[in-house]
Amino acid sequence: MKVAIIGGGASGMMCATMIARKGHNVTLFEKNEKLGKKIYITGKGRCNVTNATVGDTFLKNVVNGKKFVMGAITRFNSNDTINFFNEVGVPLKIERGNRVFPESDKSSDIISGLEKAMRWAGVEIKLNLEVQNISVENGKIVGLIINGKTEKFDAVVVATGGVTYPATGSTGDGYKFAKSVGHSIIEPVPALCAVRLKNNNECKQIEGLSLKNVKLYAKLDDKIVYQSDVGEMLFTSNGISGPLVLSMSSYINRCDLTKLKIYIDFKPGISEDGLLTRLDRDIVNLKAKQTSSLFEGLLPRSLIQLFAKRLGLKLTEKANQITKEKRKNIAFLLKNYELEPISLENFESSVVTAGGINLKEINPKYMKSKLVDNLYFVGEVLDIDALTGGFNLQLAFSTAVTCASDFKDIKE
Ligand SMILES: Cc1cc2nc3c(=O)[nH]c(=O)nc-3n(C[C@H](O)[C@H](O)[C@H](O)COP(=O)(O)OP(=O)(O)OC[C@H]3O[C@@H](n4cnc5c(N)ncnc54)[C@H](O)[C@@H]3O)c2cc1C
Repeated sequence: MKVAIIGGGASGMMCATMIARKGHNVTLFEKNEKLGKKIYITGKGRCNVTNATVGDTFLKNVVNGKKFVMGAITRFNSNDTINFFNEVGVPLKIERGNRVFPESDKSSDIISGLEKAMRWAGVEIKLNLEVQNISVENGKIVGLIINGKTEKFDAVVVATGGVTYPATGSTGDGYKFAKSVGHSIIEPVPALCAVRLKNNNECKQIEGLSLKNVKLYAKLDDKIVYQSDVGEMLFTSNGISGPLVLSMSSYINRCDLTKLKIYIDFKPGISEDGLLTRLDRDIVNLKAKQTSSLFEGLLPRSLIQLFAKRLGLKLTEKANQITKEKRKNIAFLLKNYELEPISLENFESSVVTAGGINLKEINPKYMKSKLVDNLYFVGEVLDIDALTGGFNLQLAFSTAVTCASDFKDIKE
């Protein structure tokens, strides 16, 4: 078969390799001047290429499309990814949280490995070539439209990614292609991104403050819509970011953020009552010392002023004059420090796109369109997304290999 792959990212390169290995005539089209521009910036330039977990543990980290990707992540899991890169001469190492990186710590090695695999398999790589659309007649793929002309292909794989970091080439072209042949798109929204807060002045006062061992939770109309594990977060000039916030963003990105409230639990290891007992004890020990001394043992220095302001407490006030009622308020605020979000960060700085090609219209067995014969979608263009840790690249690889499994091995 003559097969076209649109997109030279993680999913496109893996898919091209696997289909070409079966003896088909594969051409990969990439609009950039080079392959894998997004891979290059992954994992802060080190590329967290997969997560060394499988099955349910892996699935827990998939936010949208859990059921849909179940078969794909079984067909080609993180062990397969590790073996694949070993075979192409890119040894990997496992770090904290089962995150897998190239031993060299260079994302460019992952791109070279994928490119090498494609060349070994005989894929024709066409750079600087932007596909304008797919061409379909009578519900069947006939080819691609490039430079206004139709180039014939028996099958087409759309691997154009989402819409985040568009400078890397992911500009949502796949959605346009899909729509033109009748597919529906679940509205793309940013995921794994920072959150902007209403109170910019507060943010500016504590910009750069990093919090460790805290928990976050989010409420919409008094209903908890997200609750984190213990982790880290930080304040930016206009909001919050860091690991806990990125994860939270993937679960609140379809909520009306103007109605959402986010809360920090500064002391997740101790209950509100436990905190009250501790405050009583500390206050007895502090005697007539200032209230600021009480907070110094509880909060980062730069936060104390803001915290006291919310409680209407003067830091110069004597600690032992803090009333029972106010102590209760302190304990409550330590567990429920409210933040008012206004929006998520934009697509330009979000790690992944949630939303994409409606999964109801795709057969998960082969990532094949249910509407058009011999049309496939792989990777982030689909309505799938996962948390940080190497899960998104693994989803790109798993869906790519699953798609390739629909092609007959004509070399056998
Ligand atoms: C800053 C950042 C850090 C990240 N870090 C990690 C990480 O460490 N681990 C992890 O698992 N995930 C990470 N991700 C997410 C991960 O990079 C993506 O989920 C993954 O790369 C998606 O792969 P893809 O092949 O589906 O799409 P993309 O990588 O977006 O590739 C799509 C390709 O298609 C090309 N293309 C688009 N339209 C056309 C067209 N019309 N014609 C021709 N070519 C076209 C684009 O130029 C692009 O090269 C990160 C993302 C970002 C932005």
